[in-house]
Amino acid sequence: MNKFWEKVFFIFTYIAQGSSYLSPRAYAVMHRMHHAYTDTELDPHSPAYSKNIFTMMWRTKTIYAQIFNGTYPVEERFLKNLPDWPAFDKWANGGISRLIWAVGYTALFAYYVTSPWMWALLPIVLAMGPVHGAIINWFAHKYGYTNYKVNNTSQNLFSIDILMLGESYHNNHHKRPSSLNFGKRWHEIDPVYPIIRLLAWMRVIKVAKLNAVDDHR
Ligand SMILES: [Zn+2]
Ligand SMILES: [Zn+2]
Repeated sequence: MNKFWEKVFFIFTYIAQGSSYLSPRAYAVMHRMHHAYTDTELDPHSPAYSKNIFTMMWRTKTIYAQIFNGTYPVEERFLKNLPDWPAFDKWANGGISRLIWAVGYTALFAYYVTSPWMWALLPIVLAMGPVHGAIINWFAHKYGYTNYKVNNTSQNLFSIDILMLGESYHNNHHKRPSSLNFGKRWHEIDPVYPIIRLLAWMRVIKVAKLNAVDDHR
């Protein structure tokens, strides 16, 4: 996508993630590292190198912060063609922004909650980004089924994945990281795939290799 649409999507991402906003640039770098070093010591998040889900997420948070602040020794090959809007990232990733969203969410809860137990959902809403990351990076590297033999622990967590919008077909994704469609078998519906094709049709994005999409149907 061009720089204009990139900025539009930065803003959409910010609205959607709010208090748990993660920099697209830093996350892209971290994600490339995950693909290059899956299940090794250099993997930013691997159940194989963490005792439990919380220590893994803490490690992920630390590496993310180091990439964001430029203190992590990132390899040159992970730095090409990244989405980048430093001024926006600085605000959206900052404490004041997170606090404002947190106050807003709390106010919404105060208005809508009809039973005290519902307050237990507030921390999950506040930390939605990392919660989403934990589901894939922990559970989809531990439980599920595989379509492909790969040299890592990635698995398809759900056989029909609407909840994680297709992201839980994680074994498929590790086998074909550049494929737009995470689904492979007939029941593996990837709800985001038609949206990507729609955006391409609308010329908002340009798909580099459309053939790569079709060759694994
Ligand atoms: Zn993975
Ligand atoms: Zn990936």
